[in-house]
Amino acid sequence: MPSPVRTLRGRALSPSRESPSLERWDDALIEIDELGRITSIAAAPPGCPVAVSHPGCVLMPGLVDVHLHFPQTRVIGSAAGPLLEWLERSVFPEEARFAEPLYASAVATEFCDAMIAQGTTCAAIYSSSHPIATELLFGELDRRGLRATVGPALMDRNAPAEVLLAAEPALAACAALIQRWHGHDRGRLRMSIVPRFALSCSAALMRGAADLAAEHGLWIQTHIAENHAEIEATAQAFPAAKDYLAVYEDHGLVGARTILAHCIWLSDSEWDRVAAAEATVAHCPDSNFFLGSGRMALGHASRRGIEVGLGTDIGAGRSFSVRRIAASAYDNALIVGAPASAEALLWLATTGGARAIGLGEVVGRLAVGFDADVIAVPLPPVDDAGLVDALIFRHDAPPVEATYVRGLRV
Ligand SMILES: [Zn+2]
Repeated sequence: MPSPVRTLRGRALSPSRESPSLERWDDALIEIDELGRITSIAAAPPGCPVAVSHPGCVLMPGLVDVHLHFPQTRVIGSAAGPLLEWLERSVFPEEARFAEPLYASAVATEFCDAMIAQGTTCAAIYSSSHPIATELLFGELDRRGLRATVGPALMDRNAPAEVLLAAEPALAACAALIQRWHGHDRGRLRMSIVPRFALSCSAALMRGAADLAAEHGLWIQTHIAENHAEIEATAQAFPAAKDYLAVYEDHGLVGARTILAHCIWLSDSEWDRVAAAEATVAHCPDSNFFLGSGRMALGHASRRGIEVGLGTDIGAGRSFSVRRIAASAYDNALIVGAPASAEALLWLATTGGARAIGLGEVVGRLAVGFDADVIAVPLPPVDDAGLVDALIFRHDAPPVEATYVRGLRV
């Protein structure tokens, strides 16, 4: 087992506690303890004997991706939207392949490679419905040293048989995965409960999933209000529910450990209830553009104090780069008439995402007491004023030079 680096030195940038401000250091010295926690960050003293760790790079917190699908790694860019047709044509046939362990293993390696290459140190991940694929993904995330919150996509209806699993065996498999992985390596890996979306789930599956999450204090991830046809089909499938959010509320799935992806077409009442429940939001603008789903206005969440993180939503999203998703969020904000600054979006890409999955006191900032999840990003030739713009908007710039989790280079 390698040991973590004990110091990093270089130009550095970190979100402050409150959005959207950032702290910057021209030449920072970051000290890290044997557990991989930051014990000090300050300007390097004159004559500092520590060499600059990654010349030409800026050090910043690892990026946090609050929504992506492991079994869609190989169908990125499969242009067959809108949502429900895309699931039928591109996604379900691909996800069916994850019943095969060799296939799932190979893709797990690619998936972790892609996260590391883009500087994503922490992610909230949907696996396929297959317990074996989820087990293999956990194993690969563990070996590679990444931080993640993962669950198999729970689905027992409205899809091909190859991707369905009945409520009882699915929940039993979740229980086994919880025993094996939840809290692994001081909480670096966490199991989560992932009803794919209401249309894929029977009432019994959703209730059982909610009970399991409550019993073990697990995060719940699901999709909501992404597309008009999906919303209409959900209303027909659950005629007793007053709206889409109510389907999840009625089955015990909405609380302070629930992350809701998309949220494009929520009503004011639904937004108010998301806020009251202290649920959080995964904003996935690139996916929303690609499938033509629509545009979520960040203001709905920020006005109500709802925590928001950025999701690549691989494979409807087209890039593992959370920086690129921040650029997409910028475009999205302009279109809805409520511009967001690059600083605010970088904040969402790091500490915002960490807070949205309950890790806001652990990662997402370079600060004393936080884990040293750090990336070294090759620095474009810009002065301080242009630094954040360059980090987010220069799509042609190289990806990260180094990715560390708890001070260990992954
Ligand atoms: Zn998704």
